[in-house]
Amino acid sequence: MPETAVLEEPNPYEAAFSNVLESLHREGRYRVFTELERPADRHPRALWHAPDGSVREVVVWCSNDYLNMGHHEKVLEAMHRAVDDGATGAGGTRNIGGNHHLHARLEARLAQLHGKESALVFTSGWVANFTALGALGRVLPDAVILSDFDNHNSMIEGIRRSGAERVVFAHNNLADLEQKLQKLPHARAKVIAFESLYSMDGSVAPIGAVCDLARRYNAFTYLDEVHAVGMYGATGGGQAQAQGVEARVDLIQGTLGKAFGLQGGYIAGSKTVVDGIRSLGAGFIFSTALSPVVAAGATAAIEHLMTSSLERSLQQRHAALLKIRLLAAGLPVMPSPSHIVPVMVGDAALCKRISDELLQHHGIYVQPINYPTVPRGTERLRFTPGPKHTPELIETLVRALETVWAQFGLTGH
Ligand code: PLP
Repeated sequence: MPETAVLEEPNPYEAAFSNVLESLHREGRYRVFTELERPADRHPRALWHAPDGSVREVVVWCSNDYLNMGHHEKVLEAMHRAVDDGATGAGGTRNIGGNHHLHARLEARLAQLHGKESALVFTSGWVANFTALGALGRVLPDAVILSDFDNHNSMIEGIRRSGAERVVFAHNNLADLEQKLQKLPHARAKVIAFESLYSMDGSVAPIGAVCDLARRYNAFTYLDEVHAVGMYGATGGGQAQAQGVEARVDLIQGTLGKAFGLQGGYIAGSKTVVDGIRSLGAGFIFSTALSPVVAAGATAAIEHLMTSSLERSLQQRHAALLKIRLLAAGLPVMPSPSHIVPVMVGDAALCKRISDELLQHHGIYVQPINYPTVPRGTERLRFTPGPKHTPELIETLVRALETVWAQFGLTGH
């Protein structure tokens, strides 16, 4: 009897969670997973396990495996070989039993890719940013971290973790950055933390000019190249490589989860800086190492993209075509100099309804991008055409968008 009485008591903790979920639903920001299978031979088509139990073919338009390297035959072969060799789980942290030859090979390749002395791999790009920026604060007492307004959550959290003072400068705004640098004492440690390519609007940072300011004002440069590695530069080294300024960036951070198709993150820089982060970074020291299978696959992806530009150029061609076709159709495509093609909606609930309609009735999968990923009122659809999104698939997408825009009574740009 006392036991059932306890069970019938309303649980105040459950209620607190329900309240949060209700408010997300009310604002149209509740996130629903789309359950997919992505067979390699059907890409960019995937199988959608719909909530009604049916399985339907859809075209994926929002993958961050931008070049479909996750399915590349060299990547699959390297991963199969690693599995057969027993390189499945790492078996520990890198310091205690989990350090594998495949990690060392991957890090050597990453250092070479970025023209740096050394690289260090983490379990994700998020962990890499959080850990590396967090450690910088410990190495540089009384540091100020100057952070671009649009920086990713992992950088913001890393800066918080660092304990350093944070000064936010306007997005890609050199004048504002300089003004903020000018106010700081020359001798005080300063880190400029920014991204090379901002994934929600596709904007590209003027990396060389930021490095000029860093030199003038005695600052260290920390560059997140997550959305650019594999995608830009002669060997896929990212925007810094494409802009010819790689050597001037102190620390480059990247991911293995986007253009390299798998999972994991990394930093690349001088031997001393990377060793310092290796020695201090809690997110590295106290976590089981990346699976060596993944390290093997990522190395194969990097090596392929270092010598092949085919995937990059096809992707760029399809992104350019999609932008032209969206503009011609009068759809509100946002200006973007990069491979990202965002279409503005400006309302969270509407964005979700459009995305649902495209999935349900047009076999098109594009995830709505809502707050806090983008500011409120700038909710959007974000298309990432890849090498295999043919002109025919692009036409089908544009026609579907025209239909849905008319159906919801929306105007174009
Ligand atoms: N940095 C930026 C700019 C990102 O957009 C993301 C993820 O989308 C990350 C870091 C985190 O990378 P990962 O997905 O490998 O954790």
